[in-house]
Amino acid sequence: MADSLPTQIQLEIVTPDRQVVHDAVSAVTIPGKNGYLGILPGHAPLLSELKAGELVYTCEAVKHHLAVSWGFAEVLPGRVIILAQTAERAEEIDCTRAEHALERAQERLKQVSDPTIDAERAREAYERARARLQAARRTGG
Ligand code: ATP
Repeated sequence: MADSLPTQIQLEIVTPDRQVVHDAVSAVTIPGKNGYLGILPGHAPLLSELKAGELVYTCEAVKHHLAVSWGFAEVLPGRVIILAQTAERAEEIDCTRAEHALERAQERLKQVSDPTIDAERAREAYERARARLQAARRTGG
């Protein structure tokens, strides 16, 4: 029999601390370094670096939102593996903490002329906080 295309994707999202997702899903949107990647079952294999952003997957017609930071994604026709430095489901995100992190990063970014400020580190913290707030605001949506 000819190879049939998979109808689902086995999605795994892991961080150094824990397995965050292990589920059969019908679609995944990944924040790739060069832009968002929309993945459906049967997608051609690819490897991508992740940037801080929102990851969305659909499982039984329900959309699930997560914030991920830097890492890597491996896409295979029936499987997606996300190795992320951090990953939180929308409902796990502490918005107050993320808002404070965003404010701290914004303050640092205003002082980039100060040689003691690491602008790249501040920008990364800003992007992580923004991704968390974006994902958290999707809960219930
Ligand atoms: P903060 O300055 O608030 O620690 P950060 O961006 O420096 O933010 P990370 O180093 O990316 O934090 O994450 C450290 C750990 O804390 C990770 O396990 C991450 O999942 C978790 N974490 C960070 N911010 C939040 C948040 N707002 N809500 C829930 N978990 C968070």
